[in-house]
Amino acid sequence: MTVAECLFCRIVSGELPASVVHETATTFAFRDLHPQAATHVLIVPRAHYSDAVELAKGAPGLLDDVVLAAGQIAEQEGLAGSGYRLVFNTGADAGQTVFHAHMHLLGGEQLGLFGR
Ligand code: 5GP
Ligand code: ZN
Repeated sequence: MTVAECLFCRIVSGELPASVVHETATTFAFRDLHPQAATHVLIVPRAHYSDAVELAKGAPGLLDDVVLAAGQIAEQEGLAGSGYRLVFNTGADAGQTVFHAHMHLLGGEQLGLFGR
């Protein structure tokens, strides 16, 4: 897949619509189309990396930017006190379906344990 075909690159560029909740110079965050919790936000680096490990290898510091953005969004959404979950699905077995690194921020309710 080329970057031009990447769904999240197209959302970051504004070519496709999204419910944007937060932006920085290096990150972009929007609500998940199919929320799995009361609050479900996706935080992506503006630059294209296929997954979290490629992101960490390719751009030192950018993963920090994604996590720091999540913290700011949690404050903004009123989740900082009650807690929230940050998840990177990485590869097929984890159910990764969009191969532009993205961190899920889930919260706003008591979350179940996860695993299989
Ligand atoms: P993954 O399974 O790759 O970790 O997560 C991809 C996420 O992207 C899924 O939770 C899915 O609901 C969400 N998603 C897929 N297509 C779109 C879209 O066009 N817009 C938004 N906002 N979310 C999407
Ligand atoms: Zn992309």
